Amino acid sequence: MSENDGKKTLGVRGGNRPGQVKQSFSHGRTKSVVVETKRKRVVTPKPSTAKTEGGGTTKPVGGDPRKRPAGISDAELERRMKALAAAKARESEEAAAREAEEKARAEERERKKAEIEAKEREEREREEALKAKAEEDAKRLREEQAAKEKAAEPAAPAVDPAEAEAKAQRAAKPAPNRTDRDTRDRDRAAKPTKGGDDKRRSGKLTVNQALTGGEGGRQRSMASMKRQQERARRKAMGQNQDREKVTRTVQLPEAIVVSELANRMSERVADVVKALMQNGMMVTQTQTIDQDTAELIIEEFGHKVQRVSDSDVEQVITQTEDRPEELKDRAPIITIMGHVDHGKTSILDAIRKARVVQGEAGGITQHIGAYQVQSESGTTLTFLDTPGHAAFTSMRARGAQVTDIVVLVVAADDAVMPQTIEAINHAKAAKVPMIVAINKCDKPEANPDKVRTDLLQHEVIVEKMSGEVQDVEVSATTGAGLDDLLESIALQSELLDLKANPDRAAQGAVIEAKLDVGRGPVATVLIQHGTLKQGDIFVVGEQWGKVRAMENDKGERVKEAGPSVPVEVLGLNGTPEAGDVLNVVETEAQAREIAEYRQKAAKDKRAAAGAATTLEQMMAKAKADENVAELPILVKADVQGSAEAIVQAMEKIGNDEVRVRVLHYGVGAITETDVGLAEASGAPIMGFNVRANASARQTANQKGVEIRYYSVIYDLVDDVKAAASGLLSAEVRETFIGYAQIKEVFKVTKVGNVAGCLVTEGVARRAAGVRLLRDNVVVHEGTLKTLKRFKDEVSEVISGQECGMAFENYDDIRPGDVIEIFTREEVERSL
Ligand code: GDP
Repeated sequence: MSENDGKKTLGVRGGNRPGQVKQSFSHGRTKSVVVETKRKRVVTPKPSTAKTEGGGTTKPVGGDPRKRPAGISDAELERRMKALAAAKARESEEAAAREAEEKARAEERERKKAEIEAKEREEREREEALKAKAEEDAKRLREEQAAKEKAAEPAAPAVDPAEAEAKAQRAAKPAPNRTDRDTRDRDRAAKPTKGGDDKRRSGKLTVNQALTGGEGGRQRSMASMKRQQERARRKAMGQNQDREKVTRTVQLPEAIVVSELANRMSERVADVVKALMQNGMMVTQTQTIDQDTAELIIEEFGHKVQRVSDSDVEQVITQTEDRPEELKDRAPIITIMGHVDHGKTSILDAIRKARVVQGEAGGITQHIGAYQVQSESGTTLTFLDTPGHAAFTSMRARGAQVTDIVVLVVAADDAVMPQTIEAINHAKAAKVPMIVAINKCDKPEANPDKVRTDLLQHEVIVEKMSGEVQDVEVSATTGAGLDDLLESIALQSELLDLKANPDRAAQGAVIEAKLDVGRGPVATVLIQHGTLKQGDIFVVGEQWGKVRAMENDKGERVKEAGPSVPVEVLGLNGTPEAGDVLNVVETEAQAREIAEYRQKAAKDKRAAAGAATTLEQMMAKAKADENVAELPILVKADVQGSAEAIVQAMEKIGNDEVRVRVLHYGVGAITETDVGLAEASGAPIMGFNVRANASARQTANQKGVEIRYYSVIYDLVDDVKAAASGLLSAEVRETFIGYAQIKEVFKVTKVGNVAGCLVTEGVARRAAGVRLLRDNVVVHEGTLKTLKRFKDEVSEVISGQECGMAFENYDDIRPGDVIEIFTREEVERSL
């Protein structure tokens, strides 16, 4: 029992099997072991051998009477010896039995192994035989076919080649054949194979099977079988899925988080992310993707897309169609448009004064962005009191087309001007009828017929020229013709047959909005449908509110406002924007929800827009087109016409290798924004008859942005061309040395106009070149006739000092103008 290590307990069980020991381990495990039993020194009373037995298994001990222990009789010794001999015999018997048993087991193993091997061999042979047979069949068939074809060659083919091919294929596949023998063969061949498969599928795998598994390279490993089973299982499941696949209609907002998209499709997030990646979008499940991308994915998964342009929350705003019987006449809404100084404001004022003040004794009209007047015939007209195209287009851009009729003002002493044409285009684009008001007809030089013929060129044919467009000669100053104008508008509105339903939840458009110190945010709303009442809850753009009070254009408190009526609304929680649409909703919660949703959507949109137009992206895009080098430039010009001419010229420059890219162009002074844009894209700024303002100049200096000024388009084009072809040579470049501000202008006899200036930057030099800038636009370039400090002629005046300056051959100088002083030098080009 020397092996006993404390944990294991050894106990000899059953006296008849002394060598067999059962070991008990922890957790109830047991094991039988054969132990070597060391016998204690036993004094045997065997007379023949006197030596002590030790080691080995129990050995029959000879009885030595001399050595027998004291007190043991002969008989007793004899009995013991016998027992010992019997035990010995039993032991050897058992050992023999064990041995036999082992041998039998080994034999059995061998037999089984051989059996399986034989079976497999048989199977293999059968398969091979089958294959050989199939090949043979195919060959035979081909030969037959060839023979037949040969035979049939002179005549029409007896056998359809396609059929023959099919036959050959069938034969090669050991699929159903015509002969009985083949069928038998097939059946015989199929059975064991099937049986073998079943054996595998049963999952009953003996150790022998596992051991012999690797033999011959034909047997699959356990892992392989498991994989096969798994594949089969998946296939079965996949088929089920396919069958059960539900096509969903996925509601798709403008932007959606990937996980939410997966959720709406009832697909796994991982699959959706994978699909996105396959489409080149490296996103995570928490990222937001746009509608178009999401639509692509939804279609890929076989679902239907239902785009929802706005969130569901917006749906509470009822877009009901009005029935014809509910509609009532409404006043036309008129916008006055035309070129600057042609008299738009004057006409609006004249109409208002004539019709409103006159009617309402002592009533002071309030400017709320719109007002209503009555024509002589009694028609109510609503004028938008915000002349100008910006208001009109921005309203239209925001989806609030509030204008029914456009009055185009053209001064009779002038002609059709750029803004007149712009107004015509706006009216046409908005499909709004036009009435031409030929203004300033009181002026002696007025020539209304010239206006009429001018308009012909722009496809505006007035009635007097046998066209359809009404034309009225007016004078805002004298008031002549204004009544006729109103009657024309009334007539036009009658033709339009304008109607609205006053008995529904109100909808209107914001004309003006402001934050009033005393009253909070106020908005002038032009009601378009329904009637807005005090106490109504509404949402307007990204704001919401409850109508606390309303005032009309005469400053009177009103309780409600119907279609085409402009009112100032109090009770907003924030200031909306002109062009925002006001909708009355049922509850405050709805109003708040919609407003919040719109705020969020607007924020997202701004963020998305910002991200989409970063210059990095623009440049990345340009770089993607590797073969073509791009020369980015920014163009700022004094007027739209020259800016466009420059851009057009720029587009023509370039060949297969170089291209000029106008990043941005505009009219007016070069600003910090321009410099920022130029810096980000490494572009120079081309100023045509314009200058950078002070802050832009400073930023450009700091950031190293090149600003180049030109007064001749060809010079500009030539420079860019040279830069594009890498042929920049030394040039005469100007250096700005100073700026002076004109404070006063004196008329000096014989000298002409002299500017009293303050040098604001750098120095003013008598010999230097000068330019006269008005609002950062070059109005004259030349040299100085005189530079005076007090009464003395000087060559230089430094910054901070006052001086007198006069231009050579130029007199039109005004207080507020800026004189730019520059020198010319030859420098290396660096565009
Ligand atoms: P707007 O820029 O189109 O709004 O033009 P304004 O209404 O400001 O008018 C520009 C100038 O033209 C003002 O000095 C007006 O006094 C003048 N004006 C406007 N209408 C008439 C008119 O019918 N007759 C005359 N003689 N001058 C007018």
